[in-house]
Amino acid sequence: MKGYDTIKIENLQVFANHGVFPEETALGQKFVLSLKLYTDTRRAGKTDDLKASIDYGDVCSRATKFMQEHTYKLIEAAAEKLAEMLLWEYELLSGVTVELKKPWAPIGLPVDFAAVEITRFWHRAYMAIGSNMGDKKAYLDGAVKAFKDSPLCKNLKCSTYMATEPYGVTDQDEFLNACFTVDTLMSPEELLDFAHEAENAAGRVRTMRWGPRTLDVDIIFYDDEVISEEHLTVPHIDMQNRDFVLKPLAEIAPGKVHPVLGKTVQQLAAEL
Ligand code: ATP
Ligand code: CA
Ligand code: CA
Repeated sequence: MKGYDTIKIENLQVFANHGVFPEETALGQKFVLSLKLYTDTRRAGKTDDLKASIDYGDVCSRATKFMQEHTYKLIEAAAEKLAEMLLWEYELLSGVTVELKKPWAPIGLPVDFAAVEITRFWHRAYMAIGSNMGDKKAYLDGAVKAFKDSPLCKNLKCSTYMATEPYGVTDQDEFLNACFTVDTLMSPEELLDFAHEAENAAGRVRTMRWGPRTLDVDIIFYDDEVISEEHLTVPHIDMQNRDFVLKPLAEIAPGKVHPVLGKTVQQLAAEL
């Protein structure tokens, strides 16, 4: 990965009980774990202080303990959950590559090992929320809480709530809008699903576009990614034309550069 230093742990052997077959979960077998920890080692390099880095000995103990305390059918699942645990436990960790080998995989053929290798990172999401029905503040609070409480999110930072005039369809109640940034382990698609769940939990009924709603949750940016899928466009296609997005976003992320337009949120807000 560009711009990251790495700390590597190679071939840590762990005896654990993952597998699809009952014999595997009952008897256990050898697993071989390699980790690549993406972090910034500069400060540790300059200060020669362990506290400024990630203690790889500690990582090895925790990973061993985790592998032994859980039982997964698939090494895919073991690797995924292990990556999640490590990304949560170590504040300085931006991302991790987990390679999990199974040298004794019950295949019945002469193979050195079967393995999975996955790379997972914290991502920064920029979200916009709005409501113009019922207890608007409570709906926004509910959306923020859903993300705050998610085990796949951390460091949520929310703007103030702003009362704004309706957009598109203008003969409806005024809106309450806000933006928040959050660090997440969710993919963009998972984030969209999660946003829809939050809307559903607020009892949102989809009638007309831009019509009254208890809660709307949109993805504005996801890192610097540019996505144009049928159900998901990131950056949000119309954000640069929306005061009610740019104003709150400028409060919390003024310097964020729109990856397509090449302008900061502050610039876009000023130009509107
Ligand atoms: P607008 O998209 O103009 O803000 P809206 O929020 O009222 O209008 P919705 O009915 O909430 O529109 O969403 C329609 C669909 O837009 C969603 O089901 C989703 O699949 C899609 N969509 C595309 N890009 C995004 C995005 N960045 N964030 C949220 N939804 C998106
Ligand atoms: Ca919207
Ligand atoms: Ca929406």
